[in-house]
Amino acid sequence: MKVFKFGGASVNSTAAVRNMAEIVGAHKGEPLVVVVSAMGKTTNMLEQLVPGVRPAEEHPALLEQVRSYHMQIIQGLFPDAEHDVYKDFDHLFAQLQEETAQPATSYNFDYDQTVCYGELISTIIVSHYLRSTGLENKWVDIRQVVRTNNHYREGIVDFDATKEASKVFQETDCMMYVTQGFIAGTSDGHTTTLGREGSDYSAAILSYCLDAESMTIWKDVPGFLNADPKYFPDTVKIEQIPYNEAIELAYYGASVIHPKTVKPIQNKNIRLHIKSFVTPETDGSVIGPFETIKPLTPLYIFKNNQTLLSVLPKDFSFIAEDNLQTIFAALAELNIRVNLMQNSALSFSLCIDDNELLLEQLRQRLASQFLLRYNRGLQLITIRYYTQQIIDTIVAGRPILLQQRSRTTTQLLVKL
Ligand code: ASP
Ligand code: MG
Repeated sequence: MKVFKFGGASVNSTAAVRNMAEIVGAHKGEPLVVVVSAMGKTTNMLEQLVPGVRPAEEHPALLEQVRSYHMQIIQGLFPDAEHDVYKDFDHLFAQLQEETAQPATSYNFDYDQTVCYGELISTIIVSHYLRSTGLENKWVDIRQVVRTNNHYREGIVDFDATKEASKVFQETDCMMYVTQGFIAGTSDGHTTTLGREGSDYSAAILSYCLDAESMTIWKDVPGFLNADPKYFPDTVKIEQIPYNEAIELAYYGASVIHPKTVKPIQNKNIRLHIKSFVTPETDGSVIGPFETIKPLTPLYIFKNNQTLLSVLPKDFSFIAEDNLQTIFAALAELNIRVNLMQNSALSFSLCIDDNELLLEQLRQRLASQFLLRYNRGLQLITIRYYTQQIIDTIVAGRPILLQQRSRTTTQLLVKL
């Protein structure tokens, strides 16, 4: 069994769906699970339709955007107006409409019950289209397979229950399955999601449960690049990446891979290919049981919108275990992730993603004991396999507010 994952950009138009069908068609006859995200930016549109987010008067126009976007793709793919896809789409769209008309309850719960329609609709379209090109397949509602707890918007996967349920992908008379990424379900029948961009993780969960031969993520880039082409004109494609390196890179914020994706495939020693849906014949990158990255080249990760926070005890006491405990408890309570930290005798510095609301809540929680100072609008640069010359070029004379180095990695917080 192989698992393929197609993200939103690979199915964002009639032409894109045709292209993905060609890629899948090249594997006709092999056992295949095809995991698909919502089309294009559908999830962003659906986020606006979560009950309570926007005034109800705005719903009809927003719903119409979702409907016409998908209809345009369907009409491009299915000239026959009597095709079953039209009926299936209308059915799902009516359910979405009904969901958005519900009174708001808790945001996270409502979110999952609403945004799931992006994936449900995209996979119905893809499944019908593949069938129309001769690729017989079965559409699976993944909410009956990937089981999570009721931690809405960030469901925690129950791997035992999921493994048991994943047997639906192993029927003897079916070779190809089409299913949704990102969404999952609780044992009492509610929809959950796995966090934004979570479809990679869905594919990894299924690869794990099905002991897949390999997993492939089809992307709009040629593979795993050593830097984001947005910031870097001359990127290098990394051909081979060891599992631990991939986990480190995801940890530091490399956007090509969802942070939770690597663990399940590492645990089963499954290779994860990252390939281009534009040039599917080229090799791409592979994450697997390798010793080092190949080619060995510096890797760059840039995170903008960073805030440097300095926390100073008001009573002039040292920053030590008791103080740190108070600070970390507040961070954990607010679910604030620390991207870099450093302490001196009288101050504790931490770099976090900028978020005015959370910053203020943190300040309130710590105000009785600590003074908070912050510096916003910074950039955090992580360089693996650095040299001093590389650092000098990248920093380009900008003041460095905080820096850390290990043998392989340096992190620098600079002004933009
Ligand atoms: N459609 C979801 C999102 O846009 C999940 C994914 O694309 O991986 O976040
Ligand atoms: Mg996506």
